[in-house]
Amino acid sequence: MDRVVLRSSFEEVNEQVLRAGDLLGLHPGIIEVLTSCEREAVIAIPMYDDDGNIEVLSGYRVQHSSARGPTKGGIRFHQTVNLDETRALASLMTWKTALVDVPFGGSKGGVAVDASTLSARRKEQIIRRWTRSLVEMLGQNRDIPSPDLGTDAQTMAWFLDEYQRLEGFQPACVTGKPIELFGAPGREEATGRGVAGITRAALERDGHEIEGARVAIQGFGNVGRYTALTCSELGMKVIAIADVTGGIVDPDGLDVWELLSYPDLSHATVGDRIGSADVLEVECDVLIPAALGEVITDENVDRVRCTYLIEAANHPTISTADARLHKRGITIVPDILANSGGVLGSYFEWTQNIQEFRWPLERFREELDARMAVAFNTTVETADQYKVDLRTAAYVVSVKRVAEAFTLRGTLA
Ligand code: NAD
Repeated sequence: MDRVVLRSSFEEVNEQVLRAGDLLGLHPGIIEVLTSCEREAVIAIPMYDDDGNIEVLSGYRVQHSSARGPTKGGIRFHQTVNLDETRALASLMTWKTALVDVPFGGSKGGVAVDASTLSARRKEQIIRRWTRSLVEMLGQNRDIPSPDLGTDAQTMAWFLDEYQRLEGFQPACVTGKPIELFGAPGREEATGRGVAGITRAALERDGHEIEGARVAIQGFGNVGRYTALTCSELGMKVIAIADVTGGIVDPDGLDVWELLSYPDLSHATVGDRIGSADVLEVECDVLIPAALGEVITDENVDRVRCTYLIEAANHPTISTADARLHKRGITIVPDILANSGGVLGSYFEWTQNIQEFRWPLERFREELDARMAVAFNTTVETADQYKVDLRTAAYVVSVKRVAEAFTLRGTLA
């Protein structure tokens, strides 16, 4: 039995940075910089509940690194949000933005609250209060939020409006906005489209058949839905999918278009019902966790039965489970590569807002597909060069870029 060492999420991400730093021969001082966060804010968000009682929610914003540009990262509303997880996710954003070579650093934020219990009015109050408390840290040239778990385009519209009241008109202060309010056609589907494109690239690299490849997906929100749709458009067969309400499985393939008409999977009338976590154990060619982090653990890893694990969610695999999957020869495409279509799409939206010029959807898709392909190929070449797995290779590429930018800035003051 392997020795199990429990680490915090931030320590897990830093472990990857340390490994890449060692391979690159970075100075220990630079590694210390890259494993620290530049700035962290913890805020109290007082709210009245429906009975007039005051409840205080905890909110966060962590800016990990601005070496390569203004920081960029989502806002998550989920009951598990805490400072350590926010640090880990902010750091992941630094590596992701560097890997796809966009001029951003990394950040993340959130509120510890169960989004599924919130009315629209309460959600609006929370994001407005979050924005007012943190406004000095934010802005198109400082730190640019976007949607994440439990937040969406509407939440970003409320953010935009609150920010404008405080600081004046600045549509590039946030991405993932509705199309009608300075959003970009293509952004909503960008993460899922990127995940599906990377899945195809990973299969093609090994000469694995795309047509009919069996895909299982955990998550039926923004990322899960568009991943399912694009995988199916590319000819793959979605055989299982799950959300927080449970999952469905059909070895002959599910009708993705029909599923997309449901608000959540509790309404599904097709396939056999399974539990939310059971989808991770369905025998398939490609497993795509696209919901929560740390869902593949020492407890369930030996029951995972796939050839490819494509990490659409952030940090879905804990490091000890990752090592065991490698031993079994499973190819893992890491989160910072697999889900980087989201931040690429955000970059395109930010660019369009600043230029006050809207691209047609075709241009958005072409640029996304082309840049994702470059990131994939660079990662694969680096893996071959250093004789390492794809996760380590992705970190080697991104840690090198951030370390170079930091060093070129020329001061530790
Ligand atoms: P979302 O809130 O739109 O959807 C989340 C989905 O996960 C929902 O279908 C929900 O029912 C499901 N879910 C929640 N708890 C679950 C559980 N215990 N078991 C099974 N399913 C569960 O969020 P999203 O934007 O789709 O983000 C999903 C993941 O992708 C997150 O890890 C996020 O950090 C990551 N991500 C999102 C983007 C983006 O552009 N939205 C970009 C990069 C990475």
